[in-house]
Amino acid sequence: MAVIGAGLAGCECAFALARAGVRVTLFEMKPHRFSPAHTSPDCAELVCSNSFRSSAPDCAIGLLHEEMRALGSLCLAAAETCKVPAGRALAVDRKLFSGEMTRRVLETPEITLVRKEILSLGAKGDPPPDPELAGHEFIVVSAGPLAGESLSVSLGRLAGEEHLYFYDAIAPVLDGFSLDMDKIFAGDRHDSGNGDYLNCPLDRESYTAFREALLGAERVPPRPFEKESHFEGCMPIETLAERGFMTLAFGPLKPVGLVDPRTGTRPFAALQLRAEDLNRSMFNLVGCQTKLRQSEQERVFGLVPGLEKAGFVRFGSMHRNTFVNAPQALSPDLSLRARADVFLAGQIAGVEGYAESAACGLWLGKRLAAGIRGKDLPPPPPETALGALLMHLQSGAGRFQPSNVQFGLMPALGRKAGFRERRALYAGRARDSFRNWLEKSEMGR
Ligand SMILES: Cc1cc2nc3c(=O)[nH]c(=O)nc-3n(C[C@H](O)[C@H](O)[C@H](O)COP(=O)(O)OP(=O)(O)OC[C@H]3O[C@@H](n4cnc5c(N)ncnc54)[C@H](O)[C@@H]3O)c2cc1C
Repeated sequence: MAVIGAGLAGCECAFALARAGVRVTLFEMKPHRFSPAHTSPDCAELVCSNSFRSSAPDCAIGLLHEEMRALGSLCLAAAETCKVPAGRALAVDRKLFSGEMTRRVLETPEITLVRKEILSLGAKGDPPPDPELAGHEFIVVSAGPLAGESLSVSLGRLAGEEHLYFYDAIAPVLDGFSLDMDKIFAGDRHDSGNGDYLNCPLDRESYTAFREALLGAERVPPRPFEKESHFEGCMPIETLAERGFMTLAFGPLKPVGLVDPRTGTRPFAALQLRAEDLNRSMFNLVGCQTKLRQSEQERVFGLVPGLEKAGFVRFGSMHRNTFVNAPQALSPDLSLRARADVFLAGQIAGVEGYAESAACGLWLGKRLAAGIRGKDLPPPPPETALGALLMHLQSGAGRFQPSNVQFGLMPALGRKAGFRERRALYAGRARDSFRNWLEKSEMGR
């Protein structure tokens, strides 16, 4: 088995395979070549924050931690040895963490760590495939969001270049329960749908205030490797606002086809929200991809009528990111539809975040190991954190975006509940489902 990329997903995958007795060659291009964000020669480098986020028992990421621990996560075991105090978050000393991960990988006899950049998967039009990959029945690509360029091109050729994204333009996602529905109305343009969209109507005054705040707000400066070459379709909203007073009102905030039922007239402008999940518990701010600082996003979007107290489930951002359009490019077992021997794990497969990337690698390692023993390992049900994350890779092909784990990715509860009760219900159901799955599946034996 060959695993390309000794990041969070690659190390987890290799370790899960090794624990099942499978021999793994783990390729890592560092220290010969570093991505623009990596600087340490060690494995599993945390390139930005030092936190795996909250371990609290009543949030989706905390549940994912629990499930990962139950499956024997290497990352979470290593994290325990170098934790730093961070309230309910699982934060680590990043240098110690990568050192510990590297030590554990090197001490695992079934894993051979080879320091080499893999350039080609042997797609049509590629340079000859790397000879080191020959003889491996399966290849796992876990090369991350900043995968080496040559490998990215090769993967693009296999997955279909239209299914490989290099630039990530993300609009903020808001907690649906934090919206002021006295000011917002449901409705589709020209009455064309089932009222799927929510609309925040802006009069000339509130539009002017919002635009001016956008223009004056502090932005995240691009890193040197994030050349600002935006497609017209994913221009940051603050850049559009610079083009002229009416650009937003003719663009993402156009009110065409909308009538505010409270006034019976078309608003001057309208910011639309689109549900991110079936439960309609999270809403995407349509066309509002942004590079504003997170605190500025809260302040500026809070000026829009109805969003004054909005809670941000995810902030907008724009950075280089390599990931496949998973629902189109991947089979449910995470193999490429175009090459059944090539599997994807981690951020490149379409999950987002340190813990999620590691969880994806861990799951793939477990599944491949079971397959080698001739067993089928069905994924955990979508009511669990891991199951929901894996299910996300199969949904929303048209506008697929990598996602952190969220309760909104899980099936709806089937009844209304307040914020706290909702979290408790989701968490309780997830725990029961995971326990049942563990008992029944190969994992429990
Ligand atoms: C700039 C940036 C900042 C981020 N910050 C955060 C954050 O603060 N918190 C968070 O939760 N998530 C963050 N993410 C998102 C994501 O969680 C991390 O990128 C995470 O590390 C992804 O894990 P991974 O295992 O998929 O990839 P990585 O951890 O990036 O591992 C990939 C490994 O593959 C190696 N590699 C690449 N190409 C090749 C090749 N051709 N041959 C051999 N080896 C190769 C790389 O050197 C690297 O070691 C960030 C992403 C980026 C791009």
